[in-house]
Amino acid sequence: MSLLRLSPEGLFPIPCTSNGQTTLELPLAGTIQGEGLLAGVPSLFLRLSGCNMSCRWTAPSGERIACDTPHALGVQNSSLVTSASLVEKIASHRGQIRHLVVTGGEPLLQAEALVEFLAQLRPLRMHVTIESNGSCFAPELLPYIDLWSFSPKLYPHFLPAYERSEADYVAVINQWLGAVPPSAQVQLKFVIGQRTDEAPLLRFLAPLRLRPTDVVMLMPLGATQEALARTTPPTLELCLRHGFRFAPRLQIMLWGNRVGV
Ligand code: SF4
Repeated sequence: MSLLRLSPEGLFPIPCTSNGQTTLELPLAGTIQGEGLLAGVPSLFLRLSGCNMSCRWTAPSGERIACDTPHALGVQNSSLVTSASLVEKIASHRGQIRHLVVTGGEPLLQAEALVEFLAQLRPLRMHVTIESNGSCFAPELLPYIDLWSFSPKLYPHFLPAYERSEADYVAVINQWLGAVPPSAQVQLKFVIGQRTDEAPLLRFLAPLRLRPTDVVMLMPLGATQEALARTTPPTLELCLRHGFRFAPRLQIMLWGNRVGV
């Protein structure tokens, strides 16, 4: 039996036993997906712990901005849980929610335990999204995922934890694009901080073997409304120039940079 290592918020939001409310101050579980094709859809989130990258972006002001889920990068305050206990929790809290988003950190680092969990989750017939940086190929997960949400990190935005070349990274994304079955959807979300991200973006995209149904989205960098206000104009400009879809971050607009919402 494999255990899943979860970040401090783990499965969220679900009512906390002490006050019967979630981090959204509601008496029932769930939030909305804030990003991508399913933005606005009521969902539960499962945040796994650990990542093989340590991203840093440069904002238009020159400020260096780090990963917006630092608490999910290491094992500090993480917990190990069984698939059975998670499935039971989802079954008892989901109400009318039919979407589960598995995120991180980098969830594909725990592919073996995820397969076990998702196989046990199947009877609940949840729609499953996985949010990943796309750098690890784990085809054993293919039968279980409905939406593959890859967020490739453009060079040089991630630092040494991931030590492979851009060509290697692109090759792994191409492996995914060739392997995801037509019954599942792929979205590629690129974080844009400033206009100079255009060249690395186009260089990364050029060798990708995108299929007609794959969706490329650009998402403004920032974990606060103020930061998004600065990075939205250059992101919009790139979307309009190249025909990419703009991906807002509804959760930041609604709740700011809160954990567990
Ligand atoms: S890949 Fe994602 S979770 Fe990992 S460090 Fe980068 S932004 Fe954070």
